[in-house]
Amino acid sequence: MAVAKHEVSNERSYPEIRAAVRALCAQFTDMYWRDLDRERAYPEAFVGALTEAGYLAALIPETYGGSGLPLAAAAAILEEVHVAGGNAAACHAQMYIMGTILRHGDEAQKNRWLPEIAAGCLRLQAFAVSEPDSGTDTLSLTTSARRDGDAYVVSGQKVWTSRAEHSDLMLLLARTTPKDQVREKGDGLSVFLVDLRQATAGANPPVRIRPIRTMLNHATTEIFIDDLRVPAENLIGAEGKGFRCVLDGMNAERMLIAAECIGDARWFIGKARDYACARRVFDRPIGRNQGVQFPIARAFAQAEAADLMVQRAAALFDSGRPCGPEANMAKLLASEASWAAADMCLQTHGGYGFAEEYDIERKFRETRLYQIAPISTNLILAYIAEHVLGLPRSY
Ligand SMILES: Cc1cc2nc3c(=O)[nH]c(=O)nc-3n(C[C@H](O)[C@H](O)[C@H](O)COP(=O)(O)OP(=O)(O)OC[C@H]3O[C@@H](n4cnc5c(N)ncnc54)[C@H](O)[C@@H]3O)c2cc1C
Repeated sequence: MAVAKHEVSNERSYPEIRAAVRALCAQFTDMYWRDLDRERAYPEAFVGALTEAGYLAALIPETYGGSGLPLAAAAAILEEVHVAGGNAAACHAQMYIMGTILRHGDEAQKNRWLPEIAAGCLRLQAFAVSEPDSGTDTLSLTTSARRDGDAYVVSGQKVWTSRAEHSDLMLLLARTTPKDQVREKGDGLSVFLVDLRQATAGANPPVRIRPIRTMLNHATTEIFIDDLRVPAENLIGAEGKGFRCVLDGMNAERMLIAAECIGDARWFIGKARDYACARRVFDRPIGRNQGVQFPIARAFAQAEAADLMVQRAAALFDSGRPCGPEANMAKLLASEASWAAADMCLQTHGGYGFAEEYDIERKFRETRLYQIAPISTNLILAYIAEHVLGLPRSY
């Protein structure tokens, strides 16, 4: 399995889609991403181009105006964005958040929202789950939604709601029954589709969004919600069953994020390989030293193995079979592979890896996120230990 120079991908699925995404990404140079990173600015032009080309509607069925592609194709799209040195986190949620409406919305909701999302006229980029006191422990969230006539009145605070400033709609998880009054642990939460355009309008809006500056350019925010009236028709699925509605979308999210990690790993490996061949120290390329080659080879093997798990998870998902363990393992292995590749790439570049113009320090910061969000490594390990292997529950 020889790998051509500058190509650290072997024969891959969806070659036409991959080639087209690469051509699109070629318009957005390293300089483009570097400047945005420095300014902590949102990649409007890039997101616009992906939307225009229809890639963000890949998973919406054709009946609702999307491309109706399998998850494996969506994974290929996101992977290629990352292989090209870009970052799809600015828009990946547009691909999968709609899955909650698709799987749990009624026909009226699907007809109302999905065609406009597919056409790119409506941006559904924001998913508000985490709160200041409930990140990992989702069931402890306290943002409340109380029924009042034909609406729900929502109050509370969300944190880390990414892309909220660049989204027209936001999927929100809120508590409709107090935690101590539910029959089953997972009950009592409900999912709502919030129209942010209305909710943030006016002098004293019920929703206020405040950006959080982070170590990477991620357009993430905290959100303060004060007596926001959400029409009852915007409740997705049954009241009190919202946790289950969002849970089944999380497998798709994990696989797609894993694909981005694979893309990052390939970018780091390609960079390291090229530099190790070009950089001469003691009158020979540093890549001739096994101390430099072996970490590159190891990172490649690790990324290939993780990629197989991503493909396996996606194949199960696309054939409608259970894929919880595989989706979680894909996310775990891929995020570890990308982080290992990032560390190796920085080491291979010596001091130059720290210079902004090489882009390695930027991608290094970006790929580190995936061991924390959208789910931390520990929580995946706990899932595998307790739900797959049957070890005693720790929480
Ligand atoms: C840049 C960024 C973007 C994000 N975007 C979004 C978004 O769009 N929407 C959204 O809802 N959320 C988002 N998040 C939030 C993210 O999902 C949470 O940060 C993540 O779930 C972890 O929650 P926490 O930060 O509260 O950590 P905590 O829950 O406080 O956990 C802290 C640490 O303790 C560990 N830990 C906790 N409990 C256990 C246990 N029982 N066993 C072992 N280890 C444990 C965790 O693994 C973690 O490492 C984002 C976060 C970041 C940083």
